Amino acid sequence: MLPEEVRRVVAPIEDILKIEVVIYAALGTKRCSDFIKNKKSGGATSGEMVNVALTTLGLKVQNLRISVRNWPSYEDFEKKFSIPGICRSDNVMGRFLDIPSCCADRFAIEGDRTDRDILRRYPYQGIDTPETIKVPSDTKEKLEWFQDFSAHMRLYRSHVFDYSQSTKVTVRNLMRRGTLPPEICFLLCSYIPCTALCKRYIAMAHRMRNNLKICLSAKRYQEIYEGYQKGSLSL
Ligand SMILES: [Zn+2]
Repeated sequence: MLPEEVRRVVAPIEDILKIEVVIYAALGTKRCSDFIKNKKSGGATSGEMVNVALTTLGLKVQNLRISVRNWPSYEDFEKKFSIPGICRSDNVMGRFLDIPSCCADRFAIEGDRTDRDILRRYPYQGIDTPETIKVPSDTKEKLEWFQDFSAHMRLYRSHVFDYSQSTKVTVRNLMRRGTLPPEICFLLCSYIPCTALCKRYIAMAHRMRNNLKICLSAKRYQEIYEGYQKGSLSL
C-alpha cells in the first residue's frame, strides 16, 4: 500500500494507542508488533472504526499482536531459527517481531553467554549451567520459581560483561554526540542493535520515522516522537 493511502485510512483513527505499529505493519517496515486494540478514552474513535481501518490495511490482530495478514506463526519461526545449544530464544521472538535478524541473533547469543557467566560465577541453588536447571511444572510454583530465578540473574548481572547494557550506553553516547540520529529512540526503547552502528538497525529507525511523518498529523507525530524520546512509550 502506498504511504498516501495509508495516511488516508489511518487519519480517522490516529488517536488510538500504538497507532505507530499499525503504520509500520501497513507499510511493511515492521510487519509484526505487540498491540492492544485500545481507543483513547473520551476520543471520537470507536472500536468499529479501528476494525474497518485494520481490515482495509490488510492487517490482522491476534493474541495481542498486530501483523500483516500472512505473517507466519511464532512456532514457524521457532522451527526455523532456534539456535542449537543456547538457552535463549530471544532471537526467535526478535525475528517474529520483525527486527533486523543480525540484531535478534546477537542478542540471543550474547544473552546466553551472559547467563552462563552469571551461573558459573554465582550458581543458582548450586546449579551452574542453564541446561541443568529444573523448572517446576506446577503453574503457581513455576511463577514463584521464575521470579526468584530472575531476581538471582538480575542481582549478579552487573558483575559480568553484559553486551546489551554496554551497547545501550554506547548508542546513547553516540546519539548525544549526534553521530546517531535521534529517531533511534523508536527502536532502542525495546531492542538492542547487534553493534552500535548496525546499518540495518539505523535504516529501520529512519524508515519508522519517515512512515510516521508521512502518515500522521504533525501534532500526533510530535506526541509519539516525544513519548519514545522520554521513554513513556515503547514498542
Ligand atoms: Zn544488526
